Amino acid sequence: MKVLVKYSLKELEDYVESLGEKKFRAHQLFSWIYSKSAVDFDVMSDINKDFREKLKNDAKILDTKIKKKQVSSDGTIKYLIEFQDGNCAETVLMRFDNRSNLSACVSSQIGCYMGCDFCATAKRGFVRNLEPYEILSQILTIQQDTSLKITNVVFMGQGEPLNNFDNVCQAIKIINKYLNIGIRRITLSTCGIVPKIIELSNMELVPTLAVSLHCAQSNIRKTIMPVENKYNLDELKKSLIYYCEKSGKRVTLEYVLIGSLTDTKEMALKLCEYISDLKCNINLIPYNPIGVDKYKKPNKKDVMIFKYLLESQGKKVTVRLERGADIDAACGQLAGRI
Ligand code: SF4
Repeated sequence: MKVLVKYSLKELEDYVESLGEKKFRAHQLFSWIYSKSAVDFDVMSDINKDFREKLKNDAKILDTKIKKKQVSSDGTIKYLIEFQDGNCAETVLMRFDNRSNLSACVSSQIGCYMGCDFCATAKRGFVRNLEPYEILSQILTIQQDTSLKITNVVFMGQGEPLNNFDNVCQAIKIINKYLNIGIRRITLSTCGIVPKIIELSNMELVPTLAVSLHCAQSNIRKTIMPVENKYNLDELKKSLIYYCEKSGKRVTLEYVLIGSLTDTKEMALKLCEYISDLKCNINLIPYNPIGVDKYKKPNKKDVMIFKYLLESQGKKVTVRLERGADIDAACGQLAGRI
Protein backbone atom coordinates (compact mmCIF):
# COMPACT_ATOMS: atom_id res chain seq x y z
CA MET A 1 0.00 0.00 0.00
CA LYS A 2 1.23 3.49 -0.86
CA VAL A 3 1.45 5.94 2.04
CA LEU A 4 0.43 9.38 0.77
CA VAL A 5 2.06 11.46 3.50
CA LYS A 6 5.42 10.22 2.17
CA TYR A 7 4.84 11.99 -1.16
CA SER A 8 5.80 15.48 -2.23
CA LEU A 9 3.21 17.31 -4.35
CA LYS A 10 5.12 16.39 -7.51
CA GLU A 11 5.25 12.72 -6.50
CA LEU A 12 1.56 12.81 -5.73
CA GLU A 13 0.86 14.26 -9.19
CA ASP A 14 2.80 11.38 -10.77
CA TYR A 15 0.90 8.94 -8.60
CA VAL A 16 -2.60 10.22 -9.49
CA GLU A 17 -1.60 10.22 -13.18
CA SER A 18 -0.50 6.59 -12.83
CA LEU A 19 -4.07 5.88 -11.66
CA GLY A 20 -5.48 7.57 -14.79
CA GLU A 21 -6.48 10.87 -13.11
CA LYS A 22 -5.63 14.49 -13.90
CA LYS A 23 -2.80 16.23 -12.01
CA PHE A 24 -5.14 18.65 -10.18
CA ARG A 25 -6.43 15.70 -8.14
CA ALA A 26 -3.07 15.71 -6.38
CA HIS A 27 -3.74 19.28 -5.18
CA GLN A 28 -7.15 18.20 -3.87
CA LEU A 29 -5.56 15.27 -2.04
CA PHE A 30 -2.84 17.51 -0.59
CA SER A 31 -5.44 19.91 0.69
CA TRP A 32 -7.46 17.09 2.30
CA ILE A 33 -4.36 15.59 3.91
CA TYR A 34 -2.72 18.75 5.23
CA SER A 35 -5.35 21.50 5.55
CA LYS A 36 -8.41 19.43 6.35
CA SER A 37 -6.75 16.54 8.25
CA ALA A 38 -8.79 13.92 6.44
CA VAL A 39 -8.96 10.64 8.32
CA ASP A 40 -9.92 8.55 5.28
CA PHE A 41 -10.79 8.87 1.60
CA ASP A 42 -14.56 8.76 2.13
CA VAL A 43 -14.66 12.31 3.52
CA MET A 44 -13.04 13.75 0.36
CA SER A 45 -16.28 15.10 -1.04
CA ASP A 46 -14.84 16.85 -4.12
CA ILE A 47 -13.18 13.64 -5.33
CA ASN A 48 -15.41 11.32 -7.34
CA LYS A 49 -16.46 8.00 -5.86
CA ASP A 50 -14.64 5.84 -8.44
CA PHE A 51 -11.31 7.51 -7.73
CA ARG A 52 -11.90 7.27 -3.99
CA GLU A 53 -12.45 3.53 -4.39
CA LYS A 54 -9.21 3.21 -6.38
CA LEU A 55 -7.38 5.08 -3.64
CA LYS A 56 -8.88 2.92 -0.90
CA ASN A 57 -7.57 -0.20 -2.64
CA ASP A 58 -4.12 1.17 -3.30
CA ALA A 59 -3.15 3.71 -0.64
CA LYS A 60 -3.53 5.01 2.89
CA ILE A 61 -2.95 8.51 4.25
CA LEU A 62 -0.71 7.70 7.22
CA ASP A 63 1.05 4.55 8.33
CA THR A 64 1.37 5.50 11.99
CA LYS A 65 -0.69 4.17 14.89
CA ILE A 66 -1.59 5.72 18.21
CA LYS A 67 -0.19 3.15 20.56
CA LYS A 68 -1.12 5.01 23.71
CA LYS A 69 -2.88 8.27 24.55
CA GLN A 70 -2.91 10.02 27.91
CA VAL A 71 -4.96 13.08 28.74
CA SER A 72 -3.74 15.30 31.56
CA SER A 73 -6.05 17.13 33.93
CA ASP A 74 -4.82 20.41 32.35
CA GLY A 75 -5.86 19.30 28.83
CA THR A 76 -2.40 18.33 27.62
CA ILE A 77 -2.50 15.14 25.56
CA LYS A 78 0.49 12.85 25.19
CA TYR A 79 0.56 10.38 22.34
CA LEU A 80 2.83 7.44 21.92
CA ILE A 81 3.00 7.07 18.16
CA GLU A 82 4.16 3.88 16.54
CA PHE A 83 5.92 4.01 13.19
CA GLN A 84 5.97 1.33 10.51
CA ASP A 85 9.12 -0.35 11.88
CA GLY A 86 7.63 -0.69 15.36
CA ASN A 87 9.62 2.15 16.91
CA CYS A 88 7.66 4.67 18.95
CA ALA A 89 8.05 8.37 19.70
CA GLU A 90 6.10 10.73 21.87
CA THR A 91 4.20 13.76 20.65
CA VAL A 92 2.40 16.19 22.91
CA LEU A 93 -0.51 18.52 22.27
CA MET A 94 -0.40 21.53 24.56
CA ARG A 95 -3.32 23.89 24.93
CA PHE A 96 -3.21 27.16 26.76
CA ASP A 97 -6.55 28.23 28.26
CA ASN A 98 -5.95 31.93 27.81
CA ARG A 99 -4.77 31.62 24.19
CA SER A 100 -6.11 30.06 21.04
CA ASN A 101 -2.72 28.49 20.36
CA LEU A 102 -2.53 24.75 19.97
CA SER A 103 1.06 23.61 20.04
CA ALA A 104 2.33 20.26 18.86
CA CYS A 105 5.57 19.26 20.52
CA VAL A 106 7.13 16.82 18.07
CA SER A 107 10.00 14.36 18.25
CA SER A 108 12.80 14.44 15.68
CA GLN A 109 14.60 11.21 16.59
CA ILE A 110 13.92 7.91 18.29
CA GLY A 111 16.04 8.41 21.40
CA CYS A 112 19.01 10.78 21.49
CA TYR A 113 22.78 10.44 21.84
CA MET A 114 23.55 13.80 23.44
CA GLY A 115 23.45 12.31 26.93
CA CYS A 116 22.05 15.23 28.95
CA ASP A 117 22.09 13.91 32.48
CA PHE A 118 18.66 15.16 33.56
CA CYS A 119 16.83 13.99 30.43
CA ALA A 120 14.52 10.99 30.25
CA THR A 121 15.08 10.56 26.49
CA ALA A 122 18.85 10.32 26.94
CA LYS A 123 18.39 7.34 29.25
CA ARG A 124 17.02 5.44 26.28
CA GLY A 125 20.05 5.93 24.02
CA PHE A 126 19.84 6.62 20.29
CA VAL A 127 17.90 4.42 17.89
CA ARG A 128 17.44 6.35 14.63
CA ASN A 129 16.49 9.62 12.95
CA LEU A 130 12.89 10.27 12.00
CA GLU A 131 12.10 10.87 8.33
CA PRO A 132 10.38 14.14 7.34
CA TYR A 133 7.06 12.36 6.79
CA GLU A 134 7.34 10.73 10.22
CA ILE A 135 7.68 14.19 11.77
CA LEU A 136 4.67 15.43 9.77
CA SER A 137 2.71 12.31 10.67
CA GLN A 138 2.92 13.29 14.34
CA ILE A 139 1.14 16.60 13.63
CA LEU A 140 -1.40 15.02 11.29
CA THR A 141 -2.13 12.30 13.85
CA ILE A 142 -2.99 14.92 16.47
CA GLN A 143 -5.14 16.86 14.01
CA GLN A 144 -6.97 13.72 12.92
CA ASP A 145 -7.50 12.55 16.48
CA THR A 146 -8.76 15.85 17.87
CA SER A 147 -10.23 17.52 14.76
CA LEU A 148 -8.31 20.60 15.86
CA LYS A 149 -5.91 22.69 13.78
CA ILE A 150 -2.38 22.93 15.14
CA THR A 151 -1.17 26.54 15.17
CA ASN A 152 2.37 26.13 16.54
CA VAL A 153 4.99 23.44 16.23
CA VAL A 154 7.86 23.03 18.64
CA PHE A 155 10.71 20.59 18.04
CA MET A 156 11.14 19.86 21.73
CA GLY A 157 10.14 16.22 21.91
CA GLN A 158 12.58 13.36 21.83
CA GLY A 159 15.85 13.90 20.02
CA GLU A 160 18.24 16.70 19.09
CA PRO A 161 16.70 18.23 15.93
CA LEU A 162 20.02 19.64 14.69
CA ASN A 163 21.48 16.11 14.65
CA ASN A 164 18.77 15.28 12.10
CA PHE A 165 19.24 18.53 10.23
CA ASP A 166 18.17 17.73 6.66
CA ASN A 167 15.03 15.82 7.62
CA VAL A 168 13.97 18.47 10.14
CA CYS A 169 14.52 21.31 7.63
CA GLN A 170 12.52 19.40 5.03
CA ALA A 171 9.68 18.90 7.53
CA ILE A 172 9.78 22.61 8.47
CA LYS A 173 9.34 23.61 4.81
CA ILE A 174 6.23 21.42 4.48
CA ILE A 175 4.79 22.54 7.83
CA ASN A 176 5.21 26.14 6.73
CA LYS A 177 3.94 25.74 3.18
CA TYR A 178 1.19 23.14 3.41
CA LEU A 179 0.07 23.25 7.04
CA ASN A 180 0.14 27.06 6.76
CA ILE A 181 2.02 27.55 9.99
CA GLY A 182 4.12 30.72 9.93
CA ILE A 183 7.86 30.28 10.35
CA ARG A 184 7.74 32.36 13.56
CA ARG A 185 5.33 29.78 14.97
CA ILE A 186 7.79 26.98 14.38
CA THR A 187 10.39 26.63 17.13
CA LEU A 188 13.41 24.40 17.08
CA SER A 189 15.09 23.59 20.35
CA THR A 190 18.72 22.53 20.47
CA CYS A 191 21.22 21.72 23.18
CA GLY A 192 23.76 23.81 21.23
CA ILE A 193 25.19 22.14 18.10
CA VAL A 194 27.18 25.21 17.06
CA PRO A 195 27.98 24.49 13.35
CA LYS A 196 24.34 23.60 12.71
CA ILE A 197 23.11 26.80 14.40
CA ILE A 198 25.27 28.72 11.90
CA GLU A 199 23.91 26.62 9.02
CA LEU A 200 20.35 27.15 10.19
CA SER A 201 20.91 30.91 10.43
CA ASN A 202 21.94 30.95 6.75
CA MET A 203 18.78 29.19 5.57
CA GLU A 204 16.00 30.90 3.67
CA LEU A 205 13.39 29.80 6.23
CA VAL A 206 14.78 30.37 9.70
CA PRO A 207 12.58 29.07 12.54
CA THR A 208 12.48 30.51 16.02
CA LEU A 209 15.40 29.12 17.96
CA ALA A 210 15.37 27.91 21.54
CA VAL A 211 18.59 26.79 23.16
CA SER A 212 18.79 24.50 26.15
CA LEU A 213 21.43 26.38 28.10
CA HIS A 214 20.59 25.14 31.59
CA CYS A 215 23.79 26.49 33.12
CA ALA A 216 26.12 29.40 32.33
CA GLN A 217 29.15 28.02 34.13
CA SER A 218 31.18 25.68 31.95
CA ASN A 219 32.45 23.18 34.55
CA ILE A 220 28.96 22.60 35.94
CA ARG A 221 27.31 22.61 32.51
CA LYS A 222 29.73 19.82 31.52
CA THR A 223 28.41 17.64 34.32
CA ILE A 224 24.81 17.87 33.12
CA MET A 225 25.28 18.45 29.38
CA PRO A 226 28.18 16.63 27.65
CA VAL A 227 27.71 18.88 24.59
CA GLU A 228 29.64 21.52 26.56
CA ASN A 229 32.82 19.43 26.03
CA LYS A 230 32.47 19.81 22.28
CA TYR A 231 30.86 23.24 21.83
CA ASN A 232 31.51 25.37 24.87
CA LEU A 233 29.54 28.33 26.15
CA ASP A 234 31.76 30.89 24.40
CA GLU A 235 31.41 29.25 20.99
CA LEU A 236 27.71 28.78 21.59
CA LYS A 237 27.26 32.46 22.33
CA LYS A 238 29.06 33.52 19.15
CA SER A 239 26.72 31.29 17.11
CA LEU A 240 23.68 32.75 18.87
CA ILE A 241 24.79 36.31 18.18
CA TYR A 242 25.19 35.27 14.53
CA TYR A 243 21.67 33.74 14.53
CA CYS A 244 20.20 36.96 15.93
CA GLU A 245 22.01 39.12 13.39
CA LYS A 246 21.08 36.97 10.39
CA SER A 247 17.47 36.31 11.35
CA GLY A 248 16.61 39.56 13.10
CA LYS A 249 15.05 37.43 15.84
CA ARG A 250 15.73 36.93 19.49
CA VAL A 251 16.78 33.55 20.75
CA THR A 252 14.99 31.88 23.64
CA LEU A 253 17.23 30.40 26.30
CA GLU A 254 15.75 27.44 28.10
CA TYR A 255 17.10 27.07 31.61
CA VAL A 256 16.22 24.14 33.83
CA LEU A 257 16.26 25.11 37.47
CA ILE A 258 17.60 22.12 39.36
CA GLY A 259 17.34 22.50 43.14
CA SER A 260 20.67 23.53 44.79
CA LEU A 261 22.57 23.09 41.51
CA THR A 262 21.51 25.50 38.77
CA ASP A 263 18.98 27.55 40.75
CA THR A 264 21.38 29.38 43.08
CA LYS A 265 22.04 33.12 43.24
CA GLU A 266 25.60 32.51 42.02
CA MET A 267 24.28 30.69 38.95
CA ALA A 268 21.77 33.48 38.29
CA LEU A 269 24.59 36.06 38.31
CA LYS A 270 26.65 33.88 35.92
CA LEU A 271 23.69 33.76 33.60
CA CYS A 272 23.19 37.55 33.83
CA GLU A 273 26.81 38.00 32.77
CA TYR A 274 26.46 35.51 29.89
CA ILE A 275 23.37 37.12 28.42
CA SER A 276 24.28 40.77 28.95
CA ASP A 277 25.04 41.30 25.23
CA LEU A 278 22.68 38.71 23.77
CA LYS A 279 19.25 39.44 22.27
CA CYS A 280 17.31 36.82 24.18
CA ASN A 281 14.31 35.87 26.25
CA ILE A 282 14.68 33.40 29.06
CA ASN A 283 12.37 30.55 29.84
CA LEU A 284 12.93 29.10 33.29
CA ILE A 285 11.83 25.50 33.71
CA PRO A 286 11.53 24.23 37.27
CA TYR A 287 12.96 20.71 37.13
CA ASN A 288 10.47 17.82 36.96
CA PRO A 289 11.79 14.72 38.71
CA ILE A 290 11.89 11.61 36.46
CA GLY A 291 11.29 8.77 38.90
CA VAL A 292 14.21 7.86 41.15
CA ASP A 293 16.42 10.80 40.60
CA LYS A 294 19.58 12.47 41.89
CA TYR A 295 18.27 15.93 40.98
CA LYS A 296 15.76 17.94 42.96
CA LYS A 297 12.87 20.22 42.18
CA PRO A 298 13.74 23.84 43.08
CA ASN A 299 11.71 25.54 45.75
CA LYS A 300 9.34 28.33 44.73
CA LYS A 301 11.24 31.07 46.55
CA ASP A 302 14.51 30.27 44.72
CA VAL A 303 12.67 30.30 41.38
CA MET A 304 11.30 33.78 42.12
CA ILE A 305 14.71 35.14 43.23
CA PHE A 306 16.34 33.72 40.09
CA LYS A 307 13.67 35.32 37.91
CA TYR A 308 13.98 38.66 39.68
CA LEU A 309 17.78 38.76 39.20
CA LEU A 310 17.43 38.18 35.46
CA GLU A 311 14.63 40.70 35.09
CA SER A 312 16.76 43.31 36.78
CA GLN A 313 19.02 42.98 33.68
CA GLY A 314 16.06 44.08 31.54
CA LYS A 315 15.44 40.61 30.10
CA LYS A 316 12.03 39.10 29.46
CA VAL A 317 11.75 36.06 31.71
CA THR A 318 8.98 33.50 31.87
CA VAL A 319 8.60 30.52 34.15
CA ARG A 320 7.30 27.64 32.10
CA LEU A 321 3.96 26.33 33.20
CA GLU A 322 4.31 22.74 34.19
CA ARG A 323 1.94 21.21 31.67
CA GLY A 324 1.04 17.56 31.67
CA ALA A 325 3.32 16.65 34.56
CA ASP A 326 0.77 14.09 35.77
CA ILE A 327 1.26 12.17 32.49
CA ASP A 328 5.06 12.63 32.19
CA ALA A 329 4.64 15.09 29.33
CA ALA A 330 6.54 17.94 30.92
CA CYS A 331 9.96 19.05 29.74
CA GLY A 332 12.65 16.37 29.93
CA GLN A 333 10.15 13.61 30.65
CA LEU A 334 9.56 12.24 27.17
CA ALA A 335 11.17 8.85 27.03
CA GLY A 336 9.03 6.73 24.71
CA ARG A 337 7.86 4.56 27.55
CA ILE A 338 5.11 2.15 26.64
S1 SF4 B 1 17.75 17.22 26.51
FE1 SF4 B 1 17.48 17.09 24.27
S2 SF4 B 1 19.59 16.99 23.48
FE2 SF4 B 1 19.73 16.48 25.66
S3 SF4 B 1 19.63 14.24 25.70
FE3 SF4 B 1 17.53 15.03 25.98
S4 SF4 B 1 16.63 15.03 23.96
FE4 SF4 B 1 18.86 14.87 23.70
